[in-house]
Amino acid sequence: TKHFPVRRRGRAALTGPRRSVQAVDDVTLTLRRGRVTALVGESGSGKSTVARLLAGLYPRTGGDIRLHGETVNVKHGKAFRAYARRVQMIFQDPFASLNPVHTVRYHLTRALKIHGRAGDDLDQALHELLARVQLTPPERYIDKFPHELSGGQRQRVAIARALGADPEALLADEPVSMLDVSIRLGVLNLLRDLKERLHLAILYITHDIASARYFADETMVMYAGRMVEGGDSETITQRPAHPYTRLLIESAPDPDRIAGGGDPAETPAERGSGEPPSLIDPPSGCRFHPRCPVAMERCKTELPPRFDVDDAPGHWAACWLYDGAAG
Ligand code: SF4
Ligand code: MG
Repeated sequence: TKHFPVRRRGRAALTGPRRSVQAVDDVTLTLRRGRVTALVGESGSGKSTVARLLAGLYPRTGGDIRLHGETVNVKHGKAFRAYARRVQMIFQDPFASLNPVHTVRYHLTRALKIHGRAGDDLDQALHELLARVQLTPPERYIDKFPHELSGGQRQRVAIARALGADPEALLADEPVSMLDVSIRLGVLNLLRDLKERLHLAILYITHDIASARYFADETMVMYAGRMVEGGDSETITQRPAHPYTRLLIESAPDPDRIAGGGDPAETPAERGSGEPPSLIDPPSGCRFHPRCPVAMERCKTELPPRFDVDDAPGHWAACWLYDGAAG
């Protein structure tokens, strides 16, 4: 099994030199090939930042990215280029991520060329990419422009383009939340199929914990730039341990909705009690303490580390309730 052990500590400069925000802090996350890991949180929790840091799209002001144990921090180094190819990003809005003046053929050819995969039989490679994302017959799609495709078809083209790099991992940031509800499941099922067949590691970023349960093998929950709970998806949704995860699950408008995600700007927990804190000046101690119904005195000042919460392997929560719970 190959791993992508990724550690990050310190600060991320998000909006240029004049405004530096500590968006994510002490995020440690391991992606494994053949597994989907969901990163769940409301808008502003820092979950997209994690993906962009992993993809090398944001400068890091500290921390490490490691691939198979090798550190790849040098942004323009050879090791980073090799890493960046192996880790491809899928964005929320497939329309914005495709250039409207270019055809599907152009987008896919360019990806193959950039990654040195445009060999003698370019046409065959293009057809294979389209078939992989179930845009068949490929001739029907290859010379279309983005506006001639539906949202779901565009997202499939964006996925095909990512596959053009022959990646080991896909970082999918809310990949279905802008698509019609009726086609979300199809795109998630495609990603799951690709995970199996190509043995990909997938990071699935979402504000919708119900879809994480459906789609992801393991789930990590983020709050205010920190990871607060992790474990296998079934356990997290059946026996959530962290008070924030419980709030997310309780306030999900429709627990049976499996491929969901509504307006990404308004998530269930935001309609629930309180507002997520500013990342510029996060609360002291446990960052959730101002909203937590069971906060204790120490929560205001002491930052909780990760504790094992029950006998489910790998189930942890960063919450003082579990201090000594599984010891
Ligand atoms: Fe609530 Fe304290 Fe646990 Fe934070 S550490 S979630 S404030 S009980
Ligand atoms: Mg986001």
